[in-house]
Amino acid sequence: MSLIVQKYGGTSVGSVERINAVAERVKTWRDLGDQVVVVVSAMSGETDRLIALARKIQERPNPREMDVLVSTGEQVTIALLSMALENLGCPAKSYTGGQVHIRTDSAHCKARIRDIDGVRVKADLDAGRVVVVAGFQGVDDGGNITTLGRGGSDTSAVAMAAALNADECQIYTDVDGVYTTDPRIEPRARKLDRITFEEMLEMASLGSKVLQIRAVEFAGKYRVPLRVLSSFEAGEGTLISLEEETVEDAVISGIAFNRDEAKLTILGVPDQPGVAHKILGPISDANIEVDMIIQNIAADEATTDFTFTVHRNDYERAREILGSAARILAAREVLGDDEIVKISLVGVGMRSHAGIASRMFAALAKEGINIRMISTSEIKISVVVDEKYLELGVRALHDAFDLHLADSAATGSNSASN
Ligand code: ASP
Ligand code: MG
Repeated sequence: MSLIVQKYGGTSVGSVERINAVAERVKTWRDLGDQVVVVVSAMSGETDRLIALARKIQERPNPREMDVLVSTGEQVTIALLSMALENLGCPAKSYTGGQVHIRTDSAHCKARIRDIDGVRVKADLDAGRVVVVAGFQGVDDGGNITTLGRGGSDTSAVAMAAALNADECQIYTDVDGVYTTDPRIEPRARKLDRITFEEMLEMASLGSKVLQIRAVEFAGKYRVPLRVLSSFEAGEGTLISLEEETVEDAVISGIAFNRDEAKLTILGVPDQPGVAHKILGPISDANIEVDMIIQNIAADEATTDFTFTVHRNDYERAREILGSAARILAAREVLGDDEIVKISLVGVGMRSHAGIASRMFAALAKEGINIRMISTSEIKISVVVDEKYLELGVRALHDAFDLHLADSAATGSNSASN
């Protein structure tokens, strides 16, 4: 008998019909003899609706009250799903986060889980019940309701799985797994059977929005095997696990990209100790996150150029701040470009294979794509290119690293994706 935690997102519980379908699926697992804990999100659109309501009353709503409000979405679905399960003759019991002691810090609207007391849940499971828990919410030491940030139910499910020492945490969603890249850009993208936590983190942080990043971090830290699968179709989904357990020996697992990038350059700053700090200090003081950083070698041995990237939303502000730094440092000029994107190759196989970067650059060169910046980490190589080359670049790399379906080269179809 195994213990499984299943999480169903907003679209999977978006209507009464869908809630009934989820109940059927849960019952199937339980009938196989497994113990099942279900974590659910609010019905799709509900959290947004509640936030909009609050904004009609207060421009910047009180965060504590906001949590009291938005946590109601999940409370609705736990009750409805438990009823649907009972209807099918499957004993079930619902719990809010507070009731099963999902203890968090007090950072309202972005709380972090500290611990979960699984005693009550275990007792219900042992009594043969399915336990249905509200995702996204917890309770702080003062008994206040907290929420974990948008998409937080993923993290609730993983934390629950860790606390109960579950055999697997299954995230049911509207896609059937994690793909080599976004199928809307490359129709021949292939669903991965397996990927490591590290790779998934890179893919997620670069905009593959299948899972909340914090949930992946949590799963990696507590070694909770995580599976992403469709709640609408049958299939094995994608298993996210430790590297040792990953059998696929592909060098590259996927291609991630990020459209939300902008880059800033400051030209002709003195090549002296402390200059990087003078440029980037005020940027970080303004709470702007910097991603890639490049400092050129000084051509004239006295001055140097400095380029970095920020989120596109922070572009204008970062540019203003850099303008002030430029005056203080007597820099020559500040340049900016917010029509850029970042494309990254991700794969743990990079650690043991040489020549990946040059293969990447050759593929981009062949398409006439100019690389504006490059950065590398142990399992990732990223390039910044002009926005207009995003699709072309992703497809060229997908091709160059043979990531498409094995049979698609011959048939040109992706019908094998399940
Ligand atoms: N209902 C919350 C949200 O929409 C949490 C979740 O769905 O994971 O962000
Ligand atoms: Mg979600």
